[in-house]
Amino acid sequence: MIRERAYPVDPWHVRETRLDMDVLAQSESVFALSNGHVGLRGNLDEGEPHGLPGTYLNSFYELRPLPYAEAGYGFPESGQTIVNVTNGKLIRLLVDDEPLDVRYGELLSHERILDLRAGTLHRDLHWRSPAGREVKVRSTRLVSFTQRSVAAISYEVEAVDGPLRLIVQSELVANETLPPQSNDPRVAAVLESPLQSEEELTTPDGGQLIHRTKVSGLRVAAAMEHEVHGPDRTTIESEGYEDWVRTTIACVIKPGEKLRVVKYLTYGWSSRRSLPALRDQVGAALAGARLDGWDGLCREQRGYLDEFWDAADVRVEGDPEVQQAVRFGLFHVLQAGARAERRPISAKGLTGPGYDGHAFWDTEMFVLPVLTYTQPSAVRNALHWRHSTLELAQERAETLNLKGAAFPWRTIEGPESSGYWPAGTAAFHIAADIADALRRYVLVTGDTDLEREIGLELLVETARLWRSIGHHDRHGRFHIDGVTGPDEYTAIKNDNVYTNLMAQRNLLAAAEVVMRYREDAFHLGVTDEEAASWRDAATSMHVPYDDELEVHQQVEGFTRLQEWDFAHTPAEKYPLLLHYPYFDLYRKQVIKQADLVLAMHWRGDAFTPEEKVRNFLYYERRTVRDSSLSACTQAVLAAEVGYPELAHTYLREAALMDLHDLNENTRDGVHMASLAGAWLALVGGLGGLRDHDGGLSFAPRLSSRLSRLEFSLQWRGLALRVDVRPHQTTYSLRHGGPDDVVELRHHDQVLRVTCDEPVTVPVPPANPSGPPPEQPPGRSPLLRLPEREE
Ligand code: BGC
Repeated sequence: MIRERAYPVDPWHVRETRLDMDVLAQSESVFALSNGHVGLRGNLDEGEPHGLPGTYLNSFYELRPLPYAEAGYGFPESGQTIVNVTNGKLIRLLVDDEPLDVRYGELLSHERILDLRAGTLHRDLHWRSPAGREVKVRSTRLVSFTQRSVAAISYEVEAVDGPLRLIVQSELVANETLPPQSNDPRVAAVLESPLQSEEELTTPDGGQLIHRTKVSGLRVAAAMEHEVHGPDRTTIESEGYEDWVRTTIACVIKPGEKLRVVKYLTYGWSSRRSLPALRDQVGAALAGARLDGWDGLCREQRGYLDEFWDAADVRVEGDPEVQQAVRFGLFHVLQAGARAERRPISAKGLTGPGYDGHAFWDTEMFVLPVLTYTQPSAVRNALHWRHSTLELAQERAETLNLKGAAFPWRTIEGPESSGYWPAGTAAFHIAADIADALRRYVLVTGDTDLEREIGLELLVETARLWRSIGHHDRHGRFHIDGVTGPDEYTAIKNDNVYTNLMAQRNLLAAAEVVMRYREDAFHLGVTDEEAASWRDAATSMHVPYDDELEVHQQVEGFTRLQEWDFAHTPAEKYPLLLHYPYFDLYRKQVIKQADLVLAMHWRGDAFTPEEKVRNFLYYERRTVRDSSLSACTQAVLAAEVGYPELAHTYLREAALMDLHDLNENTRDGVHMASLAGAWLALVGGLGGLRDHDGGLSFAPRLSSRLSRLEFSLQWRGLALRVDVRPHQTTYSLRHGGPDDVVELRHHDQVLRVTCDEPVTVPVPPANPSGPPPEQPPGRSPLLRLPEREE
């Protein structure tokens, strides 16, 4: 955990004021730059020391066997692991005759700044070599949002005393040695030298490397070129070998003089394109980058982000840490999805190798809801990616003797890569999550082209899956048995409420969409009888409820299971999955992450307000939050059922997950769902946004520490701004014409908002809340509320 406040509070920057070697790996994740296609961890320019070197390309993976001690029918045979590709960030510096290495000599100052508006990572250091020579280095790097294969680094060295002889060695290096793997199932498999050299090529001011993976057969090309501004007699030359290319720049500078190198770096990969085609691709990308030049790339980056922030910014007054964190979170969510272009958005984005670089349901249920309202083009692409894997999902369903499409629990390219059935394939709810992300996207954007093009088929195939997994009992009730819901401490059970309610919505959406696109549906083989069977299943869906306790049962029979002995579970035994057998976790009332509570968020329309309060209190006492996907949902429901202060503490936990390394695994990459969850907790929690019934509704109510929460949402091409104050909320509309109007609910009131005039309405007083919610002993929210501002 990052205990002392590592990053001073600042609304638009994440600043590290000194280099702390103990949390180097964590800071590499926090400072990772990406555009969804290329990802560079925040490794130091000189490569060492490092926590975990990392350079990733979306969907560039190697296959590895999934060995089983005892195999079973339908177990996936091979897994995919993201590859650490050719490292192009490396810039080493020799000062006179000593390498700049922060572990030696004296580091007089060191600062790194992630600038959330500029989209750059800036580093400033002042170093005295063991021989007493002093230099100042300023480097700035970016991964371009506007040119997706391009990254660039501006590297500047100033002699403080001197004259100094400087040698800059800028490199491309493949097959870097990675630190050994731990036993934590959440980290990645380490691949030894996954890349085979195919070609190396040098020019005086740069070079290229082309490699191929051994088993997956993917080809990657990386290229670099340098622009050098130095004193007279500065020399530049390059040399290349199988796994590395080096450009060496040498000069002598006098005190106060500078050497400046701009490194342009481009990447390309393909499973199909030929070596010459890839060679040309990275070369062309270099030409594009040089055409813009460093200043041009920075200007474009800023322009892209100005537009993003105009549409997506969230302002929080009263908790400056959350203000910083929610922007940091939005920035990473954007980085993960902006240019992913029909490729997955994985649980860590491209910030680290955690979970092998796989995408889970995190994408559809946490990341895409945020992007739908802030950057819908990224959602369109993410849905296209899922659709592109449909055939594999259909094959998987067939293997499992099911109909329709069984989407993978975890994957990079589409095949199921989970070797653990109970918390893998059995989590069939991913199908309904995809359907829901699609429904939300179409609702918010009105993009019926996408609905027709891919949405119809996705809804039909997922509905078919539900119809074939579930069954009607002799009373006609529809059950979905033997599945795992979001809570991974309760597995392979019958009638998980979350799964059933999400499947219900999925089935109804499919039945409805086939009516709208009858001809296309006919081509998919949908008959009226089939659509009617979806409606039947949906309307007779069983939702287990305990009449005696008056709470829903997360799964059938949950409330009669043995209670977990929390009193005798010491703090160091969390997360429980690393200390107790699943056998024990599965048969007791202990919950890893919001499940029934999550159902109350996304299917809030299926519960009464009273049920929500009772359920929340019951499940709160049994939820340990061993997953980072939990706090944000607990924030959303805590806010809804009348506990805004608790909502605020959970919001802080979700938002500060990585800036404080709360789960002690930020080293493997940031927690994208939790970062998206900060937005969900603010906008869905304290802002009360819901989009259940085909329309927008809000129920804003601030916690007592906040004096203002302002956010923007994209709605059908318009920008709706919601400005929440303690006693009133103002809704305003931008980017529309005189006829544009948005109809929405504010608590129980229906409002019509036009571009002409903002609408200000009072926030009704809170309902008196019930007894204070209790968490399992030792599992209360991890961070305290901020001091109250008087
Ligand atoms: C959670 C899953 C999640 C996965 C990846 C697990 O710990 O239980 O819900 O999809 O992490 O973030």
